[in-house]
Amino acid sequence: MLVTGPRGTKDILPEASGNWQYIEQVVRDICRLYLYKEIRTPVFEHTELFLRGIGETTDIVEKEMYTFTDRGERSLTLRPENTAAVVRSYLENKLYADTLLNKLFYIGPMFRYDRPQAGRYRQFHQFGVEALGSKGPAIDAEIIMLAVQLLRKLGLDDLTLYLNSVGCPQCRPIYREKLQDFLREKTLHLCSDCQSRFERNPMRVLDCKKEKCTEQTQGAPHIADCLCDECSTHFNQLKSLLTLAEVDFILNPRLVRGLDYYTKTAFEIQYSPLGAQSAVCGGGRYDGLVAECGGQSTPGIGFAIGIERILLALEKQNLLPVISNAIDVFVAPMGSDMQGIAFKLLCKLREKGITAEMDFMEKGIKWQMKQANKYSAKFVAIIGEEEAAQNKVMLKNMLTGVQELVSMDEVQQKIELDVEA
Ligand SMILES: [Zn+2]
Ligand SMILES: [Zn+2]
Repeated sequence: MLVTGPRGTKDILPEASGNWQYIEQVVRDICRLYLYKEIRTPVFEHTELFLRGIGETTDIVEKEMYTFTDRGERSLTLRPENTAAVVRSYLENKLYADTLLNKLFYIGPMFRYDRPQAGRYRQFHQFGVEALGSKGPAIDAEIIMLAVQLLRKLGLDDLTLYLNSVGCPQCRPIYREKLQDFLREKTLHLCSDCQSRFERNPMRVLDCKKEKCTEQTQGAPHIADCLCDECSTHFNQLKSLLTLAEVDFILNPRLVRGLDYYTKTAFEIQYSPLGAQSAVCGGGRYDGLVAECGGQSTPGIGFAIGIERILLALEKQNLLPVISNAIDVFVAPMGSDMQGIAFKLLCKLREKGITAEMDFMEKGIKWQMKQANKYSAKFVAIIGEEEAAQNKVMLKNMLTGVQELVSMDEVQQKIELDVEA
């Protein structure tokens, strides 16, 4: 038990963390480009927030939350996603008072008690953006462009953007009724989940992945035919903005989001080389969420991207950059008496911004030279008794093999000259 992590968790080991940092850096660069600012909220919130903000009848809330009672008898939950928490923070900190439009992003761990399977963990990581304050279609288009540009920047070119509008509280009930009429005689042929969805949430039947449900919903009415004027105009404007941005999209009437606070735009980006798990980004508009969480009615839109899945795609396509761990110099004391002098040099070099390492294991020169090679050191600074007596080191250029005796003060200069060249 002690040396085994909990089921569904995964360590990000030193050899892999560079890949994570790479993705995080690309994310940060893109967000800077689009002026989305990072928001960091706690990993746990009051359980109530997620009941409201995600919806009590969703799978996440019903089956997947890590909920616990703390020592103060409060019910807390590890965040299963972050939109509700961002909205909570937006309201609590009155971010709406500073600017009409808040453009925020987050990146960090989320927690769901899900059945662990390939590439899916109970602690997983998401990058997401939320734009709060604008109801116009331009912000929808911007958010989609941000996702597309990010994925392309990472090298994932084979992307397909699926688009739909899920309407609003004015037009959706009309569609809902139409859909129920269509499904009524077929309910017995639906999976058990969908049978219960029929009353509660019939639109979710459309995105059920079970074959019999997909079959039964062939020919179902499209929400696009039921949109009110406002929703339909919004959708058309979004489509023309995306066309102006030269982004291809496919209309997918099955792209629905179950909850009442979701409105208008729903989108998904798929990366087909991933096969069955090809969805890499999902998002949409949630004009009803801020009010649901207790604030003034405020429009919002966002998306989330699973980092593990992106990593899987980059690994599969060989798109991860080779990360160099090469150091400038390895300081090699010959014998423990020289350790102090070596350490002093090491500190001096690092202070000047030179990547340097030394032998901490008190091994012989042969082992140290091997270490230097392991670190791909450009130089080795050998300090023996003779050198130390003259306040010098034997500086070996590992590429040319040339050795020269240089004074302690010259070491930095010699290395810098070489690094610049
Ligand atoms: Zn509408
Ligand atoms: Zn189903």
